[in-house]
Amino acid sequence: MQNGVLRNYHTHTVRCKHARDTDGEYAEKAYRAGFETLGFSDHSPWPFTDGHVSRVRMDLAELEGYCASVRALRKEYEGKMRILLAMECEAYAPHFSWLREIKEEMGMDYLILGNHFSDETEVFPFSWSTEPEHLRLYTESTLRGMESGLFACLCHPEVALFRYPAWDQACEDMADELCKAALSLKLPLEYNLLGEVYREKGKFGPLGYPLLRFWEKAAEYGNTAVIGVDAHSASALEDIPRLKAARERLEKLGLKVLDSLEGPKESSPA
Ligand SMILES: [Zn+2]
Ligand SMILES: [Zn+2]
Repeated sequence: MQNGVLRNYHTHTVRCKHARDTDGEYAEKAYRAGFETLGFSDHSPWPFTDGHVSRVRMDLAELEGYCASVRALRKEYEGKMRILLAMECEAYAPHFSWLREIKEEMGMDYLILGNHFSDETEVFPFSWSTEPEHLRLYTESTLRGMESGLFACLCHPEVALFRYPAWDQACEDMADELCKAALSLKLPLEYNLLGEVYREKGKFGPLGYPLLRFWEKAAEYGNTAVIGVDAHSASALEDIPRLKAARERLEKLGLKVLDSLEGPKESSPA
């Protein structure tokens, strides 16, 4: 919930190979739950150079179909609910210019940064981080993405704490660097509701995300937050109490929760 108006900018589709339900089911559930805006942001495909086939994202050949499907839903729900077209992407710097072109070409409304892997070989997911060195790698890569100017927010900034053993100086440094950069780049940090579900299911190590300690720091820095459902099933969009509780929790910490990811365009004429 963003200021009484329900908006979600983080929604997946079955194309990523680890979500379920049809695009139409996501839209219908969101509409029935009272959402004003639903942003589809499935895991982006990439033009992998080494023939790598990802198990966690749509294939490049599915991109046009994805865009067409979201556009069709946008038309279907016109006047009832706003539907936006987007993607969640890693910080694969060699492909940033490709991504910029695709965003333009497909008329995407925004992109969000969800930095799951260190590089396009996708051998090492950052969620497997257990050593300070892993967190340094994650921070460095994520900063590169944040500074690219391509993204509207940083999703689950603490994703590298999925199974990290304990809060240490490396965690402190990671949090400091990401919060500092987010502040100077005016990039909102996403409080990720799927993480809450993971925690309840016992999927995390001792830390996981969203982590109170991280968000206390974000509040100290004066960061802005956006709440993301990170829906991998249509029913995730029905959990309105979770959205409301998250907003209250963040506001109690002193964080400013954004009403919208779109914001005023800096270059738009007065
Ligand atoms: Zn996913
Ligand atoms: Zn996601």
